[in-house]
Amino acid sequence: MLEIDKLTVFYGTEKAVNELSLKVSGEVLCLCGRNGAGKSTVLRAVAGLVEVDSGQISLHGQSVMTIPLHKRLESGIGYVPEDRKLFKEMTVRENIEVARIGVKASGRQEMDIDELLPELASLYNRKSKLLSGGQQKLVSIARAIVTSPGVLLFDELLEGLARSMMIKISDIVKKIKEEGKDILCAESSLDKAGMYADRIIWLEKGRIVATGTPAEIKRQITDAIRAK
Ligand code: ATP
Repeated sequence: MLEIDKLTVFYGTEKAVNELSLKVSGEVLCLCGRNGAGKSTVLRAVAGLVEVDSGQISLHGQSVMTIPLHKRLESGIGYVPEDRKLFKEMTVRENIEVARIGVKASGRQEMDIDELLPELASLYNRKSKLLSGGQQKLVSIARAIVTSPGVLLFDELLEGLARSMMIKISDIVKKIKEEGKDILCAESSLDKAGMYADRIIWLEKGRIVATGTPAEIKRQITDAIRAK
């Protein structure tokens, strides 16, 4: 279980996340909201990529706040950033091998990538820069799951993809959840989030303004627009 309690993050004097609390347990929870709402900052705070000003983040009841930022991703968290962060000149295999190094060091079980992402098998020797955007996302997911983390963070997973690839990746996310993982995501689009999320948190200016299933949130937004 991933638990966030009263998380606050500033960039300089700007409060990007404001006393945000949530729990992710055996589900796919997706943060939604307009650009700048604070979605990526929450994920980056969990991944240890931004300094937290106050609040708590814990995995399975254990605080990760004391784990140094550079060690956070080795401690059971897998992260797919918005911009994928692949080594473009490396092949798919090499990109995945680099991510495996941490697993070997920790002695942790590896997750079976071929079973979950069979499409990658034919691409192993291709340089990452030659892949389509969707294929790059698949490699990025492979890199995140290879260490078999208990918690996964996916930032704008479906952004910029063709509909067929969105469906494929949504199915992969659901399969990863069925393996017992807790998944926290961010999507600007409620429709995209609705393709794979069990629950949505709607953020505005770093604060939670609504929580519910994708259908419930959609209804609330439609009602709010009608009431204007
Ligand atoms: P987007 O979908 O555009 O990424 P978001 O909901 O993920 O939006 P964040 O990227 O978390 O929002 O940004 C929250 C706020 O913090 C925004 O006002 C943004 O301008 C600001 N911000 C984000 N990253 C930085 C940074 N590195 N330095 C300064 N301000 C930042």
